[in-house]
Amino acid sequence: MSAGLYIHIPFCRTKCPYCDFYSLPSLSLVPKWLEAVQKEIFIYRLLFPIFDSLYLGGGTPTVLTQSQWSGLMEGIFTHFAFSPSAEVTVEANPDDVTEGLMGHLRGLGVNRISLGVQSFDDQELHGLGRRHTSHSAMEAIRCIRHLGFNNLGLDLMYGLPGQTQAQWLKILKKAVDFSPEHLSCYQLTIQEETPFGKMRDKGDMQLPDEEAQRALFILTSSFLEQEGYLQYEISNFAKGREFICLHNMKYWQHFPYLGLGPSAHSFQGNRRWWNLKSVEGYCEVLAGGRRPVADEEILTREQQDLESLMLGLRTMEGVELDRLGDRSQSERVLRVLEGTGLVRVEDGRIMPTREGFLVADSLPLLFSP
Ligand code: SF4
Repeated sequence: MSAGLYIHIPFCRTKCPYCDFYSLPSLSLVPKWLEAVQKEIFIYRLLFPIFDSLYLGGGTPTVLTQSQWSGLMEGIFTHFAFSPSAEVTVEANPDDVTEGLMGHLRGLGVNRISLGVQSFDDQELHGLGRRHTSHSAMEAIRCIRHLGFNNLGLDLMYGLPGQTQAQWLKILKKAVDFSPEHLSCYQLTIQEETPFGKMRDKGDMQLPDEEAQRALFILTSSFLEQEGYLQYEISNFAKGREFICLHNMKYWQHFPYLGLGPSAHSFQGNRRWWNLKSVEGYCEVLAGGRRPVADEEILTREQQDLESLMLGLRTMEGVELDRLGDRSQSERVLRVLEGTGLVRVEDGRIMPTREGFLVADSLPLLFSP
Protein backbone atom coordinates (compact mmCIF):
# COMPACT_ATOMS: atom_id res chain seq x y z
CA MET A 1 0.00 0.00 0.00
CA SER A 2 1.27 3.49 -0.84
CA ALA A 3 0.28 6.75 0.82
CA GLY A 4 -3.21 8.26 0.49
CA LEU A 5 -4.11 11.80 -0.52
CA TYR A 6 -7.09 13.57 1.03
CA ILE A 7 -8.46 16.92 -0.10
CA HIS A 8 -10.92 18.68 2.20
CA ILE A 9 -13.52 20.74 0.34
CA PRO A 10 -14.91 22.87 3.17
CA PHE A 11 -18.19 24.09 1.72
CA CYS A 12 -21.83 23.03 2.06
CA ARG A 13 -24.98 24.64 0.76
CA THR A 14 -26.57 24.37 4.21
CA LYS A 15 -25.29 23.11 7.55
CA CYS A 16 -26.85 19.94 8.98
CA PRO A 17 -27.71 20.36 12.69
CA TYR A 18 -25.79 17.25 13.82
CA CYS A 19 -22.58 17.89 11.90
CA ASP A 20 -19.32 19.05 13.44
CA PHE A 21 -17.11 18.65 10.37
CA TYR A 22 -15.49 21.89 9.37
CA SER A 23 -17.40 23.51 6.51
CA LEU A 24 -18.88 26.89 5.63
CA PRO A 25 -22.56 27.13 4.64
CA SER A 26 -21.74 29.51 1.78
CA LEU A 27 -19.89 29.16 -1.51
CA SER A 28 -18.52 32.70 -1.71
CA LEU A 29 -14.96 31.68 -0.78
CA VAL A 30 -14.73 28.74 -3.22
CA PRO A 31 -12.60 30.60 -5.84
CA LYS A 32 -10.17 31.86 -3.18
CA TRP A 33 -9.94 28.39 -1.64
CA LEU A 34 -9.27 26.82 -5.04
CA GLU A 35 -6.36 29.19 -5.59
CA ALA A 36 -5.00 28.40 -2.13
CA VAL A 37 -5.30 24.62 -2.45
CA GLN A 38 -3.33 24.76 -5.72
CA LYS A 39 -0.54 26.47 -3.80
CA GLU A 40 -0.69 23.81 -1.10
CA ILE A 41 -0.54 21.06 -3.74
CA PHE A 42 2.60 22.65 -5.13
CA ILE A 43 4.23 22.93 -1.69
CA TYR A 44 3.76 19.21 -0.96
CA ARG A 45 4.40 17.90 -4.48
CA LEU A 46 7.60 16.06 -3.51
CA LEU A 47 6.66 14.71 -0.09
CA PHE A 48 5.43 11.30 -1.28
CA PRO A 49 6.68 9.56 -4.43
CA ILE A 50 3.32 7.97 -5.24
CA PHE A 51 -0.25 7.64 -3.96
CA ASP A 52 -2.67 4.80 -4.51
CA SER A 53 -5.77 6.56 -3.20
CA LEU A 54 -7.28 9.99 -3.58
CA TYR A 55 -10.27 10.96 -1.45
CA LEU A 56 -12.11 14.22 -2.05
CA GLY A 57 -14.28 14.79 0.98
CA GLY A 58 -15.88 17.59 2.88
CA GLY A 59 -17.99 19.46 3.37
CA THR A 60 -19.83 18.76 0.17
CA PRO A 61 -17.40 18.31 -2.73
CA THR A 62 -20.24 18.21 -5.25
CA VAL A 63 -20.96 21.93 -4.72
CA LEU A 64 -18.03 22.63 -7.05
CA THR A 65 -18.85 23.38 -10.66
CA GLN A 66 -17.53 21.29 -13.53
CA SER A 67 -14.88 23.85 -14.44
CA GLN A 68 -13.79 24.13 -10.80
CA TRP A 69 -13.44 20.34 -10.74
CA SER A 70 -11.35 20.40 -13.90
CA GLY A 71 -8.95 22.96 -12.41
CA LEU A 72 -8.64 21.13 -9.10
CA MET A 73 -8.01 17.72 -10.66
CA GLU A 74 -5.55 19.15 -13.12
CA GLY A 75 -3.51 20.56 -10.24
CA ILE A 76 -3.64 17.24 -8.38
CA PHE A 77 -2.69 15.05 -11.33
CA THR A 78 0.00 17.44 -12.56
CA HIS A 79 1.90 17.52 -9.29
CA PHE A 80 1.23 14.15 -7.69
CA ALA A 81 1.85 10.66 -9.07
CA PHE A 82 -0.76 7.91 -8.67
CA SER A 83 -0.59 4.19 -9.27
CA PRO A 84 -2.57 3.15 -12.39
CA SER A 85 -5.22 1.40 -10.30
CA ALA A 86 -5.57 4.18 -7.72
CA GLU A 87 -8.91 4.46 -5.93
CA VAL A 88 -10.36 7.93 -6.56
CA THR A 89 -13.37 8.75 -4.39
CA VAL A 90 -15.64 11.77 -4.35
CA GLU A 91 -18.22 12.33 -1.63
CA ALA A 92 -21.50 13.39 -3.20
CA ASN A 93 -24.72 14.89 -1.94
CA PRO A 94 -27.81 13.38 -3.66
CA ASP A 95 -29.18 16.85 -4.44
CA ASP A 96 -26.12 17.78 -6.48
CA VAL A 97 -26.03 14.62 -8.56
CA THR A 98 -26.68 15.35 -12.23
CA GLU A 99 -25.64 13.42 -15.31
CA GLY A 100 -23.52 16.37 -16.34
CA LEU A 101 -21.53 16.61 -13.12
CA MET A 102 -21.14 12.89 -12.50
CA GLY A 103 -20.17 12.21 -16.13
CA HIS A 104 -17.62 15.00 -15.85
CA LEU A 105 -16.15 13.48 -12.66
CA ARG A 106 -15.92 10.10 -14.32
CA GLY A 107 -14.08 11.68 -17.23
CA LEU A 108 -11.63 13.22 -14.74
CA GLY A 109 -10.73 9.79 -13.36
CA VAL A 110 -13.11 9.44 -10.40
CA ASN A 111 -13.93 5.74 -9.99
CA ARG A 112 -15.71 5.62 -6.63
CA ILE A 113 -18.65 7.64 -5.30
CA SER A 114 -19.58 7.89 -1.65
CA LEU A 115 -23.18 9.12 -1.56
CA GLY A 116 -24.53 10.76 1.61
CA VAL A 117 -27.99 9.20 1.62
CA GLN A 118 -28.38 8.95 5.43
CA SER A 119 -31.98 7.64 5.19
CA PHE A 120 -34.67 6.66 2.70
CA ASP A 121 -37.39 8.05 4.99
CA ASP A 122 -38.42 11.64 4.25
CA GLN A 123 -39.45 12.31 7.82
CA GLU A 124 -36.07 11.16 9.10
CA LEU A 125 -34.27 13.20 6.44
CA HIS A 126 -36.25 16.25 7.44
CA GLY A 127 -35.43 15.65 11.13
CA LEU A 128 -31.73 15.43 10.22
CA GLY A 129 -31.98 18.76 8.39
CA ARG A 130 -30.89 17.19 5.11
CA ARG A 131 -31.80 19.06 1.95
CA HIS A 132 -32.48 15.99 -0.18
CA THR A 133 -35.45 13.61 -0.18
CA SER A 134 -35.69 9.84 -0.44
CA HIS A 135 -36.76 10.29 -4.06
CA SER A 136 -33.73 12.41 -4.94
CA ALA A 137 -31.43 9.87 -3.22
CA MET A 138 -32.87 7.06 -5.34
CA GLU A 139 -32.63 9.15 -8.51
CA ALA A 140 -29.02 9.96 -7.66
CA ILE A 141 -28.17 6.27 -7.26
CA ARG A 142 -29.80 5.45 -10.61
CA CYS A 143 -27.91 8.28 -12.30
CA ILE A 144 -24.55 7.19 -10.83
CA ARG A 145 -25.15 3.60 -11.95
CA HIS A 146 -26.37 4.70 -15.37
CA LEU A 147 -23.06 6.51 -15.88
CA GLY A 148 -21.19 3.29 -15.27
CA PHE A 149 -19.74 3.79 -11.78
CA ASN A 150 -19.26 0.29 -10.41
CA ASN A 151 -17.95 1.22 -6.98
CA LEU A 152 -20.69 3.02 -5.09
CA GLY A 153 -20.82 3.54 -1.34
CA LEU A 154 -23.92 4.70 0.52
CA ASP A 155 -23.70 6.48 3.87
CA LEU A 156 -26.58 5.78 6.24
CA MET A 157 -27.34 6.91 9.76
CA TYR A 158 -29.15 5.02 12.52
CA GLY A 159 -30.07 5.51 16.14
CA LEU A 160 -32.17 8.56 15.27
CA PRO A 161 -34.64 9.95 17.82
CA GLY A 162 -37.60 7.58 18.07
CA GLN A 163 -36.27 5.20 15.41
CA THR A 164 -37.38 1.59 15.86
CA GLN A 165 -35.58 -1.54 14.70
CA ALA A 166 -38.32 -2.12 12.10
CA GLN A 167 -37.86 1.38 10.65
CA TRP A 168 -34.09 0.96 10.44
CA LEU A 169 -34.38 -2.47 8.88
CA LYS A 170 -36.67 -1.04 6.19
CA ILE A 171 -34.00 1.53 5.32
CA LEU A 172 -31.25 -1.06 5.26
CA LYS A 173 -33.34 -3.27 2.95
CA LYS A 174 -33.96 -0.36 0.63
CA ALA A 175 -30.24 0.37 0.50
CA VAL A 176 -29.36 -3.26 -0.20
CA ASP A 177 -31.91 -3.32 -3.05
CA PHE A 178 -29.54 -1.03 -4.94
CA SER A 179 -26.62 -3.46 -4.41
CA PRO A 180 -24.08 -0.83 -3.39
CA GLU A 181 -20.53 -2.15 -3.25
CA HIS A 182 -20.03 -0.39 0.08
CA LEU A 183 -22.15 0.75 2.99
CA SER A 184 -21.19 2.99 5.89
CA CYS A 185 -23.71 2.82 8.72
CA TYR A 186 -23.00 5.40 11.37
CA GLN A 187 -24.76 5.75 14.65
CA LEU A 188 -26.00 9.29 15.22
CA THR A 189 -23.83 10.81 17.90
CA ILE A 190 -24.59 14.18 19.34
CA GLN A 191 -21.66 16.57 19.27
CA GLU A 192 -21.31 19.51 21.63
CA GLU A 193 -21.59 22.90 19.96
CA THR A 194 -23.98 21.70 17.27
CA PRO A 195 -27.70 22.61 17.15
CA PHE A 196 -28.47 18.97 18.08
CA GLY A 197 -26.07 19.27 21.03
CA LYS A 198 -27.92 22.34 22.26
CA MET A 199 -31.29 20.60 21.83
CA ARG A 200 -30.04 17.66 23.87
CA ASP A 201 -28.78 19.95 26.61
CA LYS A 202 -32.22 21.57 26.81
CA GLY A 203 -33.82 18.12 26.98
CA ASP A 204 -35.44 18.50 23.54
CA MET A 205 -33.68 15.52 21.96
CA GLN A 206 -34.00 11.93 23.08
CA LEU A 207 -31.87 9.30 21.38
CA PRO A 208 -32.53 5.57 21.76
CA ASP A 209 -30.99 4.33 25.01
CA GLU A 210 -27.80 2.27 25.15
CA GLU A 211 -29.58 -1.08 24.94
CA ALA A 212 -31.63 0.05 21.93
CA GLN A 213 -28.48 1.37 20.21
CA ARG A 214 -26.74 -1.91 20.84
CA ALA A 215 -29.67 -3.81 19.32
CA LEU A 216 -29.59 -1.54 16.24
CA PHE A 217 -25.88 -2.22 15.81
CA ILE A 218 -26.32 -5.99 16.07
CA LEU A 219 -29.23 -5.82 13.63
CA THR A 220 -27.11 -3.85 11.13
CA SER A 221 -24.18 -6.19 11.42
CA SER A 222 -26.15 -9.45 11.18
CA PHE A 223 -28.49 -8.27 8.42
CA LEU A 224 -25.67 -7.03 6.22
CA GLU A 225 -23.65 -10.18 6.81
CA GLN A 226 -26.65 -12.20 5.70
CA GLU A 227 -26.80 -10.02 2.58
CA GLY A 228 -23.18 -10.87 1.74
CA TYR A 229 -21.43 -7.81 3.14
CA LEU A 230 -18.14 -8.00 4.98
CA GLN A 231 -17.99 -5.87 8.13
CA TYR A 232 -14.40 -4.78 7.82
CA GLU A 233 -14.67 -1.94 10.35
CA ILE A 234 -17.19 -1.06 13.04
CA SER A 235 -19.30 1.09 10.71
CA ASN A 236 -18.13 -0.06 7.29
CA PHE A 237 -19.28 -2.92 5.09
CA ALA A 238 -18.02 -4.05 1.70
CA LYS A 239 -19.46 -6.42 -0.87
CA GLY A 240 -16.20 -8.39 -0.99
CA ARG A 241 -12.62 -7.51 -0.16
CA GLU A 242 -12.10 -5.70 -3.45
CA PHE A 243 -14.57 -3.02 -2.33
CA ILE A 244 -13.01 -2.26 1.03
CA CYS A 245 -12.27 1.47 0.97
CA LEU A 246 -8.53 1.52 0.44
CA HIS A 247 -8.20 5.13 1.49
CA ASN A 248 -9.96 4.76 4.82
CA MET A 249 -7.96 1.63 5.62
CA LYS A 250 -4.86 3.84 5.71
CA TYR A 251 -6.26 5.70 8.72
CA TRP A 252 -6.95 2.47 10.58
CA GLN A 253 -3.71 0.76 9.62
CA HIS A 254 -1.43 3.67 10.41
CA PHE A 255 -0.37 4.13 6.81
CA PRO A 256 0.93 7.53 5.71
CA TYR A 257 -1.48 10.06 4.26
CA LEU A 258 -1.36 13.67 3.17
CA GLY A 259 -4.36 15.89 3.88
CA LEU A 260 -4.77 19.19 2.06
CA GLY A 261 -7.35 21.89 2.69
CA PRO A 262 -8.57 23.58 5.88
CA SER A 263 -8.58 21.30 8.95
CA ALA A 264 -7.09 18.34 7.02
CA HIS A 265 -4.75 16.01 8.92
CA SER A 266 -1.57 14.34 7.62
CA PHE A 267 0.56 11.51 8.95
CA GLN A 268 4.05 10.37 8.01
CA GLY A 269 6.52 8.30 10.02
CA ASN A 270 5.87 9.31 13.61
CA ARG A 271 4.63 12.82 12.81
CA ARG A 272 1.06 14.00 12.57
CA TRP A 273 0.17 17.55 11.59
CA TRP A 274 -3.04 19.36 10.83
CA ASN A 275 -4.07 22.47 8.98
CA LEU A 276 -5.69 25.66 10.12
CA LYS A 277 -9.44 25.32 10.28
CA SER A 278 -10.62 28.67 9.01
CA VAL A 279 -10.85 28.99 5.22
CA GLU A 280 -9.81 32.62 5.43
CA GLY A 281 -6.79 31.89 7.61
CA TYR A 282 -5.82 28.97 5.36
CA CYS A 283 -6.00 31.14 2.21
CA GLU A 284 -4.10 34.01 3.83
CA VAL A 285 -1.19 31.85 4.99
CA LEU A 286 -0.88 30.18 1.59
CA ALA A 287 -1.04 33.56 -0.17
CA GLY A 288 2.09 34.41 1.84
CA GLY A 289 3.78 31.24 0.54
CA ARG A 290 3.73 29.43 3.89
CA ARG A 291 2.36 26.03 4.93
CA PRO A 292 -1.07 26.35 6.53
CA VAL A 293 -0.17 24.06 9.44
CA ALA A 294 -1.94 24.76 12.73
CA ASP A 295 0.07 22.31 14.83
CA GLU A 296 1.84 18.96 14.88
CA GLU A 297 2.68 16.14 17.25
CA ILE A 298 5.47 13.60 17.30
CA LEU A 299 4.30 10.21 18.51
CA THR A 300 6.52 8.22 20.85
CA ARG A 301 6.93 4.46 20.26
CA GLU A 302 4.41 3.77 23.07
CA GLN A 303 1.87 6.22 21.61
CA GLN A 304 2.25 4.64 18.19
CA ASP A 305 1.68 1.16 19.64
CA LEU A 306 -1.39 2.27 21.58
CA GLU A 307 -2.80 4.03 18.51
CA SER A 308 -2.16 1.00 16.32
CA LEU A 309 -4.02 -1.08 18.86
CA MET A 310 -6.92 1.37 19.08
CA LEU A 311 -7.24 1.71 15.32
CA GLY A 312 -6.57 -1.94 14.51
CA LEU A 313 -9.17 -3.23 16.95
CA ARG A 314 -11.81 -1.25 15.05
CA THR A 315 -11.20 -3.46 12.02
CA MET A 316 -11.84 -7.10 11.22
CA GLU A 317 -8.09 -7.57 10.57
CA GLY A 318 -7.38 -6.69 14.20
CA VAL A 319 -3.73 -6.38 15.25
CA GLU A 320 -0.72 -8.64 15.60
CA LEU A 321 -0.41 -10.23 19.03
CA ASP A 322 3.14 -8.89 19.23
CA ARG A 323 1.74 -5.39 19.45
CA LEU A 324 0.18 -6.09 22.83
CA GLY A 325 3.23 -5.25 24.91
CA ASP A 326 3.86 -6.92 28.29
CA ARG A 327 3.27 -10.56 27.39
CA SER A 328 2.16 -12.03 30.74
CA GLN A 329 -0.32 -9.25 31.50
CA SER A 330 -1.77 -9.20 28.00
CA GLU A 331 -2.14 -13.00 27.92
CA ARG A 332 -4.33 -12.79 31.02
CA VAL A 333 -6.50 -10.02 29.51
CA LEU A 334 -6.67 -11.91 26.24
CA ARG A 335 -7.96 -15.10 27.89
CA VAL A 336 -10.70 -13.12 29.68
CA LEU A 337 -11.73 -11.34 26.47
CA GLU A 338 -11.76 -14.59 24.52
CA GLY A 339 -13.85 -16.18 27.27
CA THR A 340 -16.44 -13.41 27.06
CA GLY A 341 -16.56 -13.69 23.27
CA LEU A 342 -15.31 -10.15 22.60
CA VAL A 343 -12.21 -11.18 20.63
CA ARG A 344 -10.80 -14.19 18.85
CA VAL A 345 -7.21 -15.06 18.16
CA GLU A 346 -6.18 -16.45 14.79
CA ASP A 347 -2.85 -16.69 12.96
CA GLY A 348 -1.06 -14.57 15.52
CA ARG A 349 -3.64 -11.79 15.39
CA ILE A 350 -6.27 -10.59 17.83
CA MET A 351 -9.54 -9.68 16.16
CA PRO A 352 -12.77 -8.24 17.56
CA THR A 353 -15.98 -10.26 17.24
CA ARG A 354 -19.32 -8.60 16.47
CA GLU A 355 -19.86 -8.06 20.21
CA GLY A 356 -16.26 -6.88 20.47
CA PHE A 357 -16.89 -4.15 17.87
CA LEU A 358 -19.43 -2.70 20.29
CA VAL A 359 -16.72 -2.05 22.88
CA ALA A 360 -13.79 -1.63 20.48
CA ASP A 361 -12.91 1.78 21.85
CA SER A 362 -12.29 0.47 25.34
CA LEU A 363 -10.53 -2.82 24.42
CA PRO A 364 -7.04 -1.31 23.94
CA LEU A 365 -7.14 0.29 27.39
CA LEU A 366 -7.31 -3.17 28.95
CA PHE A 367 -3.93 -3.98 27.43
CA SER A 368 -2.19 -0.76 28.44
CA PRO A 369 0.21 -1.04 31.35
S1 SF4 B 1 -23.66 18.12 4.10
FE1 SF4 B 1 -22.23 16.77 5.23
S2 SF4 B 1 -20.47 18.06 5.76
FE2 SF4 B 1 -22.15 19.43 5.13
S3 SF4 B 1 -23.14 19.99 7.04
FE3 SF4 B 1 -24.26 18.21 6.24
S4 SF4 B 1 -23.27 16.43 7.17
FE4 SF4 B 1 -21.89 18.19 7.47
